[in-house]
Amino acid sequence: MEFVIIAGVIQIGAIGITSIVSAFRSKSNGWRDLKEDSFDPDFCFRSASRNRKKLRYLCSKSKKGKLSSSQELAPTNEDQANIPGSRAAGTSVRNTPFSQPGRKCKCTILFSDTGGGHRASAQAVVAAFERAYPGRYEFELLDIWRFHSVKPFNTLVETYQFAAKNPWVWELMYVNADFPITRFIFQELGSTFSFKKFQAILEEKAPDLVISVHPLCQNLPLRVLKAMGKGRREIPFVTIVTDLGGAHPTWFDPDADQVYVPSGPVRQMAFRERVAPKQLLQYGLPVRPDFWKEAGDKEELQKKLGMKESIKSVLVVGGGDGVGGLKKVTLAVIKRLSKETEARQAVIVCGSNKKLKKELDDMSFPANVSVLVQGFVNNMDEWMAACDVLITKAGPGTIAEAAIRGIPVMLSNYLPGQEEGNLDFVRENGFGEYSADPLIIADTVSNWLNDPEKLDKMSKNARIAGRPTATNDIVQGISSFLGI
Ligand code: UDP
Repeated sequence: MEFVIIAGVIQIGAIGITSIVSAFRSKSNGWRDLKEDSFDPDFCFRSASRNRKKLRYLCSKSKKGKLSSSQELAPTNEDQANIPGSRAAGTSVRNTPFSQPGRKCKCTILFSDTGGGHRASAQAVVAAFERAYPGRYEFELLDIWRFHSVKPFNTLVETYQFAAKNPWVWELMYVNADFPITRFIFQELGSTFSFKKFQAILEEKAPDLVISVHPLCQNLPLRVLKAMGKGRREIPFVTIVTDLGGAHPTWFDPDADQVYVPSGPVRQMAFRERVAPKQLLQYGLPVRPDFWKEAGDKEELQKKLGMKESIKSVLVVGGGDGVGGLKKVTLAVIKRLSKETEARQAVIVCGSNKKLKKELDDMSFPANVSVLVQGFVNNMDEWMAACDVLITKAGPGTIAEAAIRGIPVMLSNYLPGQEEGNLDFVRENGFGEYSADPLIIADTVSNWLNDPEKLDKMSKNARIAGRPTATNDIVQGISSFLGI
Protein backbone atom coordinates (compact mmCIF):
# COMPACT_ATOMS: atom_id res chain seq x y z
CA MET A 1 0.00 0.00 0.00
CA GLU A 2 2.85 2.36 0.85
CA PHE A 3 4.17 1.80 -2.64
CA VAL A 4 0.90 3.11 -4.04
CA ILE A 5 1.06 6.21 -1.85
CA ILE A 6 4.65 6.96 -2.87
CA ALA A 7 3.78 6.38 -6.52
CA GLY A 8 0.77 8.67 -6.16
CA VAL A 9 2.79 11.45 -4.51
CA ILE A 10 5.54 11.32 -7.11
CA GLN A 11 2.95 11.30 -9.83
CA ILE A 12 1.11 14.42 -8.64
CA GLY A 13 1.90 17.28 -10.95
CA ALA A 14 3.81 15.03 -13.33
CA ILE A 15 1.25 12.57 -14.61
CA GLY A 16 0.59 14.35 -17.89
CA ILE A 17 4.24 14.95 -18.70
CA THR A 18 5.17 11.48 -17.61
CA SER A 19 2.60 9.77 -19.78
CA ILE A 20 3.33 11.86 -22.84
CA VAL A 21 7.10 11.60 -22.60
CA SER A 22 6.82 7.94 -21.74
CA ALA A 23 4.77 7.52 -24.87
CA PHE A 24 7.37 9.33 -26.91
CA ARG A 25 10.12 7.10 -25.65
CA SER A 26 8.41 4.26 -27.46
CA LYS A 27 11.25 2.00 -26.45
CA SER A 28 9.40 -0.38 -24.23
CA ASN A 29 6.40 -2.68 -24.63
CA GLY A 30 6.83 -3.17 -28.34
CA TRP A 31 4.42 -0.51 -29.45
CA ARG A 32 6.89 0.68 -32.03
CA ASP A 33 6.53 -2.69 -33.65
CA LEU A 34 2.85 -2.09 -34.36
CA LYS A 35 1.90 -1.83 -37.98
CA GLU A 36 -0.61 0.75 -39.11
CA ASP A 37 -3.23 -1.76 -40.14
CA SER A 38 -2.94 -3.70 -36.90
CA PHE A 39 -3.79 -0.70 -34.75
CA ASP A 40 -7.13 -1.14 -33.14
CA PRO A 41 -8.22 1.61 -30.74
CA ASP A 42 -10.74 -0.72 -29.11
CA PHE A 43 -8.01 -3.17 -28.35
CA CYS A 44 -7.53 -1.77 -24.85
CA PHE A 45 -10.42 -1.55 -22.49
CA ARG A 46 -9.10 1.11 -20.17
CA SER A 47 -8.91 4.67 -21.42
CA ALA A 48 -5.51 5.45 -19.89
CA SER A 49 -4.07 2.43 -21.51
CA ARG A 50 -5.71 3.29 -24.81
CA ASN A 51 -4.31 6.82 -24.72
CA ARG A 52 -0.84 5.58 -23.92
CA LYS A 53 -1.07 3.14 -26.76
CA LYS A 54 -2.32 5.78 -29.20
CA LEU A 55 0.53 8.09 -28.25
CA ARG A 56 3.08 5.35 -28.64
CA TYR A 57 1.55 4.40 -31.96
CA LEU A 58 1.70 7.97 -33.23
CA CYS A 59 5.27 8.35 -32.17
CA SER A 60 6.20 5.04 -33.68
CA LYS A 61 4.97 6.42 -37.01
CA SER A 62 6.94 9.64 -36.66
CA LYS A 63 10.14 7.99 -35.45
CA LYS A 64 10.35 4.98 -37.64
CA GLY A 65 12.18 6.63 -40.49
CA LYS A 66 14.92 7.96 -38.23
CA LEU A 67 16.16 4.61 -37.08
CA SER A 68 19.06 2.93 -38.72
CA SER A 69 18.56 -0.68 -39.63
CA SER A 70 21.04 -1.79 -36.97
CA GLN A 71 18.91 -0.05 -34.33
CA GLU A 72 15.76 -1.66 -35.68
CA LEU A 73 16.85 -5.25 -35.71
CA ALA A 74 18.70 -7.16 -33.04
CA PRO A 75 20.69 -10.07 -34.48
CA THR A 76 19.30 -13.52 -33.86
CA ASN A 77 21.16 -16.36 -32.13
CA GLU A 78 22.15 -17.68 -35.56
CA ASP A 79 23.45 -14.27 -36.66
CA GLN A 80 25.50 -14.05 -33.47
CA ALA A 81 27.21 -17.32 -34.17
CA ASN A 82 28.62 -15.67 -37.30
CA ILE A 83 29.87 -12.49 -35.62
CA PRO A 84 33.63 -12.86 -35.03
CA GLY A 85 34.40 -12.85 -31.30
CA SER A 86 30.72 -12.98 -30.44
CA ARG A 87 29.69 -14.72 -27.23
CA ALA A 88 27.02 -16.92 -28.81
CA ALA A 89 25.25 -19.79 -27.04
CA GLY A 90 27.55 -22.67 -26.34
CA THR A 91 30.66 -20.52 -26.10
CA SER A 92 32.45 -20.76 -22.79
CA VAL A 93 33.83 -17.44 -21.61
CA ARG A 94 34.60 -18.07 -17.98
CA ASN A 95 37.00 -20.52 -16.50
CA THR A 96 35.27 -20.65 -13.17
CA PRO A 97 36.45 -22.74 -10.20
CA PHE A 98 33.30 -24.85 -10.20
CA SER A 99 33.94 -25.89 -13.77
CA GLN A 100 36.29 -28.42 -12.16
CA PRO A 101 34.54 -31.75 -11.43
CA GLY A 102 33.55 -32.12 -7.79
CA ARG A 103 33.08 -28.39 -7.16
CA LYS A 104 29.40 -27.44 -6.95
CA CYS A 105 28.13 -24.17 -8.35
CA LYS A 106 26.12 -22.31 -5.70
CA CYS A 107 23.37 -20.44 -7.49
CA THR A 108 21.00 -17.86 -6.05
CA ILE A 109 17.84 -17.22 -8.06
CA LEU A 110 16.32 -13.80 -7.47
CA PHE A 111 12.55 -13.69 -7.88
CA SER A 112 9.39 -12.46 -6.20
CA ASP A 113 5.93 -13.96 -5.76
CA THR A 114 4.30 -11.15 -7.72
CA GLY A 115 1.95 -13.53 -9.52
CA GLY A 116 2.74 -17.21 -9.92
CA GLY A 117 4.90 -16.97 -13.04
CA HIS A 118 8.28 -15.96 -11.61
CA ARG A 119 8.37 -18.78 -9.08
CA ALA A 120 7.15 -21.27 -11.71
CA SER A 121 9.95 -20.17 -14.08
CA ALA A 122 12.55 -20.37 -11.30
CA GLN A 123 11.42 -23.89 -10.43
CA ALA A 124 11.56 -24.88 -14.09
CA VAL A 125 15.14 -23.66 -14.36
CA VAL A 126 16.17 -25.53 -11.20
CA ALA A 127 14.56 -28.74 -12.46
CA ALA A 128 16.32 -28.45 -15.81
CA PHE A 129 19.72 -27.87 -14.19
CA GLU A 130 19.24 -30.81 -11.85
CA ARG A 131 18.31 -33.14 -14.71
CA ALA A 132 21.04 -32.04 -17.07
CA TYR A 133 23.82 -31.59 -14.50
CA PRO A 134 23.00 -33.77 -11.48
CA GLY A 135 25.01 -32.76 -8.42
CA ARG A 136 26.82 -29.88 -10.18
CA TYR A 137 24.59 -27.06 -8.98
CA GLU A 138 23.06 -26.06 -5.67
CA PHE A 139 20.08 -23.69 -5.74
CA GLU A 140 18.35 -21.25 -3.50
CA LEU A 141 15.34 -19.11 -4.44
CA LEU A 142 15.55 -15.68 -2.86
CA ASP A 143 12.61 -13.27 -2.68
CA ILE A 144 15.09 -10.52 -1.96
CA TRP A 145 12.79 -7.49 -1.94
CA ARG A 146 10.24 -9.16 0.28
CA PHE A 147 12.56 -10.50 2.93
CA HIS A 148 15.69 -8.35 2.67
CA SER A 149 14.55 -4.77 2.15
CA VAL A 150 12.66 -2.19 4.16
CA LYS A 151 9.15 -0.77 3.99
CA PRO A 152 7.59 0.04 1.56
CA PHE A 153 9.79 -2.02 -0.77
CA ASN A 154 9.18 -5.22 1.16
CA THR A 155 5.44 -4.97 0.46
CA LEU A 156 5.98 -5.74 -3.22
CA VAL A 157 3.87 -8.89 -3.22
CA GLU A 158 0.93 -7.31 -1.40
CA THR A 159 1.18 -4.24 -3.64
CA TYR A 160 1.14 -6.47 -6.72
CA GLN A 161 -1.95 -8.30 -5.48
CA PHE A 162 -3.70 -5.00 -4.83
CA ALA A 163 -2.64 -3.54 -8.18
CA ALA A 164 -3.63 -6.69 -10.09
CA LYS A 165 -7.18 -6.15 -8.86
CA ASN A 166 -7.06 -2.38 -9.54
CA PRO A 167 -5.48 -1.93 -12.96
CA TRP A 168 -5.40 1.88 -12.75
CA VAL A 169 -3.04 1.48 -9.80
CA TRP A 170 -0.99 -0.94 -11.85
CA GLU A 171 -0.87 1.48 -14.74
CA LEU A 172 0.24 4.30 -12.43
CA MET A 173 3.09 2.22 -11.07
CA TYR A 174 4.00 0.84 -14.48
CA VAL A 175 4.21 4.24 -16.15
CA ASN A 176 6.28 5.60 -13.27
CA ALA A 177 8.70 2.73 -13.45
CA ASP A 178 8.83 3.07 -17.25
CA PHE A 179 9.59 6.79 -17.46
CA PRO A 180 13.34 7.32 -16.92
CA ILE A 181 13.12 10.13 -14.34
CA THR A 182 10.60 8.44 -12.05
CA ARG A 183 12.33 5.12 -12.59
CA PHE A 184 15.61 6.72 -11.53
CA ILE A 185 13.94 8.13 -8.40
CA PHE A 186 12.51 4.71 -7.46
CA GLN A 187 15.80 2.98 -8.10
CA GLU A 188 17.73 5.51 -6.03
CA LEU A 189 15.20 5.29 -3.20
CA GLY A 190 15.39 1.50 -3.32
CA SER A 191 19.17 1.64 -3.28
CA THR A 192 19.34 4.18 -0.45
CA PHE A 193 17.18 2.08 1.85
CA SER A 194 17.97 -1.47 0.78
CA PHE A 195 21.57 -1.53 -0.47
CA LYS A 196 23.08 -2.64 2.84
CA LYS A 197 20.46 -5.33 3.42
CA PHE A 198 20.94 -6.68 -0.10
CA GLN A 199 24.69 -6.69 0.40
CA ALA A 200 24.38 -8.49 3.73
CA ILE A 201 22.24 -11.28 2.31
CA LEU A 202 24.29 -11.68 -0.87
CA GLU A 203 27.49 -11.84 1.19
CA GLU A 204 25.87 -14.42 3.45
CA LYS A 205 24.74 -16.55 0.51
CA ALA A 206 28.09 -16.09 -1.28
CA PRO A 207 26.74 -17.38 -4.61
CA ASP A 208 28.93 -18.49 -7.52
CA LEU A 209 26.16 -17.48 -9.91
CA VAL A 210 23.13 -15.18 -9.66
CA ILE A 211 20.12 -15.68 -11.93
CA SER A 212 17.29 -13.15 -11.96
CA VAL A 213 13.80 -14.09 -13.11
CA HIS A 214 12.18 -10.84 -11.99
CA PRO A 215 12.12 -7.36 -13.60
CA LEU A 216 13.01 -5.63 -10.32
CA CYS A 217 16.03 -7.81 -9.59
CA GLN A 218 18.54 -6.34 -12.05
CA ASN A 219 19.54 -2.82 -11.12
CA LEU A 220 20.18 -3.00 -7.38
CA PRO A 221 21.54 -6.57 -7.18
CA LEU A 222 24.01 -5.75 -9.97
CA ARG A 223 25.13 -2.61 -8.15
CA VAL A 224 25.57 -4.56 -4.92
CA LEU A 225 27.53 -7.35 -6.64
CA LYS A 226 29.78 -4.74 -8.21
CA ALA A 227 30.41 -3.12 -4.83
CA MET A 228 31.14 -6.56 -3.36
CA GLY A 229 33.87 -7.00 -5.97
CA LYS A 230 35.26 -3.54 -5.10
CA GLY A 231 34.12 -1.95 -8.35
CA ARG A 232 34.45 -5.03 -10.55
CA ARG A 233 31.71 -7.65 -10.38
CA GLU A 234 33.16 -11.11 -10.02
CA ILE A 235 29.97 -13.13 -9.66
CA PRO A 236 28.32 -14.00 -13.00
CA PHE A 237 24.82 -12.56 -13.41
CA VAL A 238 22.20 -13.90 -15.80
CA THR A 239 18.71 -12.53 -16.49
CA ILE A 240 15.95 -14.81 -17.74
CA VAL A 241 13.03 -12.67 -18.92
CA THR A 242 9.74 -14.29 -17.95
CA ASP A 243 7.47 -11.93 -19.86
CA LEU A 244 6.43 -13.00 -23.33
CA GLY A 245 5.15 -10.52 -25.92
CA GLY A 246 6.54 -7.42 -24.24
CA ALA A 247 8.66 -6.56 -21.21
CA HIS A 248 9.32 -3.69 -18.85
CA PRO A 249 12.64 -1.84 -19.35
CA THR A 250 13.74 -2.73 -15.80
CA TRP A 251 14.37 -6.28 -17.09
CA PHE A 252 17.30 -5.07 -19.14
CA ASP A 253 20.62 -4.05 -17.67
CA PRO A 254 23.59 -3.95 -20.03
CA ASP A 255 25.77 -5.07 -17.11
CA ALA A 256 24.17 -8.53 -17.00
CA ASP A 257 26.41 -11.22 -18.54
CA GLN A 258 23.61 -12.94 -20.40
CA VAL A 259 19.97 -11.99 -21.03
CA TYR A 260 17.63 -14.79 -22.15
CA VAL A 261 14.55 -13.50 -23.99
CA PRO A 262 11.48 -15.52 -24.98
CA SER A 263 10.41 -13.83 -28.22
CA GLY A 264 11.36 -11.47 -31.04
CA PRO A 265 9.57 -8.41 -29.61
CA VAL A 266 11.31 -8.82 -26.25
CA ARG A 267 14.66 -9.28 -28.01
CA GLN A 268 14.05 -5.94 -29.78
CA MET A 269 13.28 -4.23 -26.50
CA ALA A 270 16.39 -5.61 -24.84
CA PHE A 271 18.41 -4.43 -27.80
CA ARG A 272 16.93 -0.96 -27.57
CA GLU A 273 17.69 -0.89 -23.86
CA ARG A 274 21.35 -1.25 -24.85
CA VAL A 275 21.85 -4.93 -24.07
CA ALA A 276 24.62 -5.97 -26.47
CA PRO A 277 23.67 -8.58 -29.10
CA LYS A 278 26.35 -10.94 -27.81
CA GLN A 279 24.60 -11.02 -24.42
CA LEU A 280 21.14 -11.69 -25.89
CA LEU A 281 19.85 -15.22 -26.38
CA GLN A 282 16.37 -16.25 -27.51
CA TYR A 283 14.98 -19.70 -26.72
CA GLY A 284 11.49 -19.20 -25.24
CA LEU A 285 9.96 -18.92 -21.80
CA PRO A 286 11.08 -21.44 -19.17
CA VAL A 287 8.24 -23.80 -18.27
CA ARG A 288 8.05 -26.66 -15.77
CA PRO A 289 9.18 -30.22 -16.62
CA ASP A 290 5.56 -31.43 -16.88
CA PHE A 291 5.35 -29.41 -20.08
CA TRP A 292 8.54 -30.80 -21.62
CA LYS A 293 6.91 -34.08 -22.53
CA GLU A 294 3.83 -34.89 -24.60
CA ALA A 295 0.54 -35.12 -22.71
CA GLY A 296 -1.05 -38.51 -22.06
CA ASP A 297 -4.28 -39.80 -23.59
CA LYS A 298 -7.02 -37.16 -23.29
CA GLU A 299 -9.82 -39.45 -22.12
CA GLU A 300 -7.63 -41.14 -19.55
CA LEU A 301 -6.59 -37.77 -18.22
CA GLN A 302 -10.23 -36.69 -18.00
CA LYS A 303 -11.01 -39.86 -16.03
CA LYS A 304 -8.03 -39.26 -13.73
CA LEU A 305 -9.06 -35.67 -13.10
CA GLY A 306 -12.66 -36.55 -12.28
CA MET A 307 -14.02 -34.91 -15.44
CA LYS A 308 -16.81 -36.27 -17.59
CA GLU A 309 -15.21 -38.04 -20.53
CA SER A 310 -15.59 -37.04 -24.18
CA ILE A 311 -17.45 -33.83 -23.44
CA LYS A 312 -16.17 -30.56 -24.89
CA SER A 313 -14.54 -28.67 -22.05
CA VAL A 314 -13.48 -25.13 -21.23
CA LEU A 315 -10.69 -24.39 -18.74
CA VAL A 316 -10.89 -21.01 -16.99
CA VAL A 317 -7.77 -19.68 -15.23
CA GLY A 318 -6.73 -16.32 -13.72
CA GLY A 319 -2.98 -16.73 -13.13
CA GLY A 320 -1.53 -18.01 -9.87
CA ASP A 321 -3.67 -15.58 -7.86
CA GLY A 322 -6.98 -16.26 -9.61
CA VAL A 323 -7.42 -12.63 -10.69
CA GLY A 324 -8.64 -10.80 -13.79
CA GLY A 325 -12.43 -10.85 -13.35
CA LEU A 326 -12.51 -14.63 -13.11
CA LYS A 327 -15.95 -14.78 -11.53
CA LYS A 328 -17.75 -12.67 -14.14
CA VAL A 329 -16.15 -14.59 -16.98
CA THR A 330 -16.93 -17.95 -15.37
CA LEU A 331 -20.60 -17.15 -14.86
CA ALA A 332 -21.02 -15.78 -18.39
CA VAL A 333 -19.36 -18.84 -19.90
CA ILE A 334 -21.41 -21.33 -17.90
CA LYS A 335 -24.62 -19.50 -18.80
CA ARG A 336 -23.70 -19.57 -22.50
CA LEU A 337 -22.67 -23.24 -22.45
CA SER A 338 -25.96 -24.17 -20.79
CA LYS A 339 -27.75 -23.00 -23.97
CA GLU A 340 -25.94 -25.53 -26.14
CA THR A 341 -27.80 -28.64 -27.24
CA GLU A 342 -24.85 -30.86 -26.38
CA ALA A 343 -23.59 -31.22 -22.82
CA ARG A 344 -20.54 -29.12 -21.96
CA GLN A 345 -18.00 -28.98 -19.20
CA ALA A 346 -16.23 -26.10 -17.43
CA VAL A 347 -13.19 -26.37 -15.17
CA ILE A 348 -12.49 -23.29 -13.08
CA VAL A 349 -9.01 -22.98 -11.55
CA CYS A 350 -9.13 -20.31 -8.84
CA GLY A 351 -5.42 -20.48 -7.98
CA SER A 352 -4.75 -19.01 -4.55
CA ASN A 353 -8.04 -17.04 -4.61
CA LYS A 354 -9.74 -18.99 -1.82
CA LYS A 355 -12.62 -16.54 -1.56
CA LEU A 356 -13.64 -17.13 -5.17
CA LYS A 357 -13.30 -20.90 -4.79
CA LYS A 358 -15.65 -20.85 -1.81
CA GLU A 359 -18.14 -18.62 -3.63
CA LEU A 360 -18.20 -20.90 -6.67
CA ASP A 361 -18.34 -24.04 -4.50
CA ASP A 362 -21.52 -22.69 -2.89
CA MET A 363 -23.24 -22.00 -6.21
CA SER A 364 -25.39 -24.37 -8.22
CA PHE A 365 -25.14 -24.52 -12.01
CA PRO A 366 -27.38 -25.68 -14.89
CA ALA A 367 -27.58 -29.48 -15.14
CA ASN A 368 -26.26 -29.73 -18.71
CA VAL A 369 -22.99 -28.03 -17.80
CA SER A 370 -20.68 -30.07 -15.66
CA VAL A 371 -18.66 -27.65 -13.50
CA LEU A 372 -15.47 -28.51 -11.61
CA VAL A 373 -14.06 -25.84 -9.29
CA GLN A 374 -10.41 -26.18 -8.29
CA GLY A 375 -8.17 -24.17 -5.96
CA PHE A 376 -4.46 -23.99 -6.75
CA VAL A 377 -3.55 -26.98 -8.93
CA ASN A 378 -0.11 -28.47 -9.32
CA ASN A 379 -0.92 -30.34 -12.51
CA MET A 380 -1.82 -27.53 -14.90
CA ASP A 381 -0.28 -29.53 -17.76
CA GLU A 382 -2.93 -32.22 -17.28
CA TRP A 383 -5.84 -29.81 -17.03
CA MET A 384 -4.69 -28.09 -20.22
CA ALA A 385 -4.35 -31.42 -22.01
CA ALA A 386 -7.79 -32.58 -20.83
CA CYS A 387 -9.70 -29.47 -21.99
CA ASP A 388 -10.43 -28.05 -25.45
CA VAL A 389 -10.23 -24.31 -24.88
CA LEU A 390 -8.50 -22.12 -22.31
CA ILE A 391 -9.81 -18.80 -21.01
CA THR A 392 -7.16 -16.87 -19.11
CA LYS A 393 -5.82 -13.46 -18.27
CA ALA A 394 -2.80 -12.70 -20.44
CA GLY A 395 -0.21 -14.17 -18.07
CA PRO A 396 2.98 -15.09 -19.93
CA GLY A 397 3.51 -18.40 -18.11
CA THR A 398 -0.01 -19.65 -18.80
CA ILE A 399 0.17 -18.58 -22.47
CA ALA A 400 3.54 -20.28 -23.01
CA GLU A 401 2.21 -23.47 -21.39
CA ALA A 402 -0.99 -23.35 -23.45
CA ALA A 403 1.06 -23.01 -26.65
CA ILE A 404 3.07 -26.11 -25.78
CA ARG A 405 -0.10 -28.08 -24.98
CA GLY A 406 -1.75 -26.85 -28.17
CA ILE A 407 -4.85 -25.50 -26.47
CA PRO A 408 -6.53 -22.47 -28.13
CA VAL A 409 -6.63 -19.42 -25.87
CA MET A 410 -9.32 -16.83 -25.23
CA LEU A 411 -7.71 -13.94 -23.35
CA SER A 412 -10.05 -12.18 -20.95
CA ASN A 413 -7.90 -9.62 -19.20
CA TYR A 414 -4.41 -8.23 -18.94
CA LEU A 415 -2.26 -6.05 -16.72
CA PRO A 416 -1.88 -2.71 -18.53
CA GLY A 417 1.60 -2.35 -19.94
CA GLN A 418 3.12 -5.58 -18.70
CA GLU A 419 0.79 -8.05 -20.37
CA GLU A 420 -0.42 -6.05 -23.37
CA GLY A 421 2.24 -7.49 -25.66
CA ASN A 422 1.00 -10.98 -24.82
CA LEU A 423 -2.28 -10.23 -26.60
CA ASP A 424 -0.34 -9.66 -29.82
CA PHE A 425 1.68 -12.80 -29.21
CA VAL A 426 -1.46 -14.94 -29.09
CA ARG A 427 -3.28 -13.24 -31.94
CA GLU A 428 -0.32 -12.96 -34.28
CA ASN A 429 0.53 -16.61 -33.77
CA GLY A 430 -3.05 -17.50 -34.62
CA PHE A 431 -4.02 -19.45 -31.55
CA GLY A 432 -6.42 -17.13 -29.82
CA GLU A 433 -8.38 -13.93 -29.39
CA TYR A 434 -8.88 -11.24 -26.80
CA SER A 435 -11.96 -9.56 -25.40
CA ALA A 436 -12.66 -7.89 -22.08
CA ASP A 437 -16.40 -8.48 -22.41
CA PRO A 438 -17.54 -11.67 -20.64
CA LEU A 439 -20.44 -12.06 -23.10
CA ILE A 440 -18.15 -11.87 -26.13
CA ILE A 441 -15.73 -14.26 -24.45
CA ALA A 442 -18.54 -16.73 -23.79
CA ASP A 443 -19.86 -16.46 -27.36
CA THR A 444 -16.42 -16.81 -28.93
CA VAL A 445 -15.54 -19.87 -26.91
CA SER A 446 -18.88 -21.46 -27.56
CA ASN A 447 -18.46 -20.91 -31.33
CA TRP A 448 -14.98 -22.43 -31.25
CA LEU A 449 -16.31 -25.54 -29.52
CA ASN A 450 -18.84 -25.93 -32.32
CA ASP A 451 -16.19 -25.57 -35.01
CA PRO A 452 -13.73 -28.51 -34.73
CA GLU A 453 -11.83 -27.40 -37.84
CA LYS A 454 -11.08 -23.98 -36.37
CA LEU A 455 -10.14 -25.55 -33.04
CA ASP A 456 -7.77 -27.91 -34.81
CA LYS A 457 -6.15 -25.10 -36.80
CA MET A 458 -5.65 -22.97 -33.70
CA SER A 459 -4.28 -25.94 -31.81
CA LYS A 460 -1.71 -26.56 -34.55
CA ASN A 461 -0.75 -22.85 -34.57
CA ALA A 462 -0.32 -22.96 -30.80
CA ARG A 463 2.07 -25.88 -31.03
CA ILE A 464 4.13 -24.04 -33.63
CA ALA A 465 4.48 -21.11 -31.21
CA GLY A 466 5.22 -23.40 -28.24
CA ARG A 467 8.81 -23.84 -27.04
CA PRO A 468 8.94 -27.04 -24.95
CA THR A 469 12.75 -27.17 -25.08
CA ALA A 470 13.26 -23.57 -23.91
CA THR A 471 14.18 -24.38 -20.31
CA ASN A 472 16.78 -26.95 -21.29
CA ASP A 473 18.23 -24.69 -23.97
CA ILE A 474 18.60 -21.86 -21.43
CA VAL A 475 20.26 -24.16 -18.91
CA GLN A 476 22.71 -25.43 -21.54
CA GLY A 477 23.46 -21.84 -22.53
CA ILE A 478 24.24 -20.80 -18.95
CA SER A 479 26.38 -23.88 -18.29
CA SER A 480 28.36 -23.34 -21.48
CA PHE A 481 28.90 -19.74 -20.49
CA LEU A 482 30.23 -20.87 -17.12
CA GLY A 483 32.40 -23.51 -18.71
CA ILE A 484 30.59 -26.41 -17.05
N1 UDP B 1 -0.66 -21.96 -12.00
C1 UDP B 1 -0.62 -23.18 -11.37
N2 UDP B 1 -1.69 -23.54 -10.67
C2 UDP B 1 -2.79 -22.77 -10.52
C3 UDP B 1 -2.83 -21.52 -11.18
C4 UDP B 1 -1.76 -21.14 -11.93
O1 UDP B 1 0.36 -23.92 -11.46
O2 UDP B 1 -3.72 -23.17 -9.83
C5 UDP B 1 0.52 -21.56 -12.76
C6 UDP B 1 0.28 -21.46 -14.24
O3 UDP B 1 0.31 -22.75 -14.83
C7 UDP B 1 1.45 -20.55 -14.65
C8 UDP B 1 1.57 -19.63 -13.44
O4 UDP B 1 0.91 -20.26 -12.36
O5 UDP B 1 2.64 -21.28 -14.78
C9 UDP B 1 0.90 -18.30 -13.68
O6 UDP B 1 1.80 -17.51 -14.38
P1 UDP B 1 1.34 -16.37 -15.36
O7 UDP B 1 2.59 -15.77 -15.89
O8 UDP B 1 0.38 -16.88 -16.35
O9 UDP B 1 0.52 -15.34 -14.47
P2 UDP B 1 0.88 -14.62 -13.09
O10 UDP B 1 0.20 -15.40 -12.02
O11 UDP B 1 2.38 -14.62 -12.95
O12 UDP B 1 0.32 -13.25 -13.23
